[in-house]
Amino acid sequence: MQVTEIMLRYGELSTKGKNKKYFIKKLLNNVKNKLKPFKQLEVKSNRDRMYITLNGEEADLVMEELKDVFGIQSFSPVVKVEKSLEEAKKAVVSLIGRHYEKGMSFKINTRRSDHEFEYDTNDLNRLLGKTVAEAYEDSVVQMKNPDITARVEIRHNGIYISVDTILGLGGLPVGTAGKGMLMLSGGIDSPVAGYLALKRGMTIEAVHFHSPPYTSPQALQKAKDLTSKLARYAGPIQFIEVPFTEIQEAIKKEIPDSYSMTVTRRMMLRLTDEIRKRRDSLAIANGESLGQVASQTLESMLAINEVTSTPILRPLISMDKNEIIDIAKQIDTFELAVQPFEDCCTVFAPVKPKTKPKLDKVKELEKALDIEQLVQNALDGLKIDHITTHDNTSDQQDNLFESLL
Ligand code: ATP
Ligand code: MG
Repeated sequence: MQVTEIMLRYGELSTKGKNKKYFIKKLLNNVKNKLKPFKQLEVKSNRDRMYITLNGEEADLVMEELKDVFGIQSFSPVVKVEKSLEEAKKAVVSLIGRHYEKGMSFKINTRRSDHEFEYDTNDLNRLLGKTVAEAYEDSVVQMKNPDITARVEIRHNGIYISVDTILGLGGLPVGTAGKGMLMLSGGIDSPVAGYLALKRGMTIEAVHFHSPPYTSPQALQKAKDLTSKLARYAGPIQFIEVPFTEIQEAIKKEIPDSYSMTVTRRMMLRLTDEIRKRRDSLAIANGESLGQVASQTLESMLAINEVTSTPILRPLISMDKNEIIDIAKQIDTFELAVQPFEDCCTVFAPVKPKTKPKLDKVKELEKALDIEQLVQNALDGLKIDHITTHDNTSDQQDNLFESLL
């Protein structure tokens, strides 16, 4: 029996009231974009569900892609049969058989959009249930939390049956929350922060600071590769490379070691905020987690955050490192992030950064810098790269390796 269709459930979207149409339209677009390589597919949506007609495309491959789309609560592969009770019975017994083990409980859940069909939903639940109970003698019918649920839908052009439900990523469709700038280093945390921002519907652009020749081309490539991993969930991402060498040298020269980290972070934030304005974006997201390092104490955040009133989203703020690492592994950024190519923060990191910097002191010390000029010079040197899922050199190397084996 061949899967003919995949049915998607929206989850949290169903609570969106008047905005629901907008959310569904975004999700429809995102799904279509994600499934572009499958030329034969047809994708349609209504208020409650989305339906993907396979027209011969491979169901497993399509479902693999759907697992990366935010805004999908769950989905089910569906088998279509002729509109006859006998055909429905055969299909239900066969589909349940794929999961059935001795003593399992089951339930039949029928919906009917074709009200002309000779049996109503109660009849169908009863008749199909009886057939299944006869086919699997040790089975039990159970309405609440059964092991197996067979969903049967009577439509005008046929009967649609599904037994499997695969959990989607949940969240909201990317693009429904507006655009934010993700401060992306080469570390473990910021890609996870990006993933969680995407999960709540944000579109992201990545901002990366690098300081050649102190930081290597590999460090830059690593940041791009991490961005490419996020593109799986986001679609193509603009990667904005900010030259940071001049600023780091000026800080090294003019600012005492204990305050250099605070001033560095303030410069990063100023620049990110300027870029945000130019890119019509509404917020900034970073990978900070409270108390993790010196720059992530509340005293530091107060001193650093003072340069802007733009909302700064910190999706990881209350997470433990282990929780962050679990997500990094799940989204396949962990292996990349632990590669030993240092970014600009590590290279210039002071030995003893202040964990409780004083804002007045920071402002006083910053007077030694020509901030406006430094910001301008960095902005003049921005480079923008368009990153897709195919731009990951480490994956390309893996492929090369595989083809050599
Ligand atoms: P990460 O694992 O993301 O590097 P971290 O725990 O190492 O985070 P920091 O290095 O102190 O913490 O950085 C805190 C946040 O500042 C990062 O999560 C990131 O959002 C931002 N950031 C740090 N370095 C850079 C950089 N070179 N380019 C862009 N953003 C950066
Ligand atoms: Mg870091």
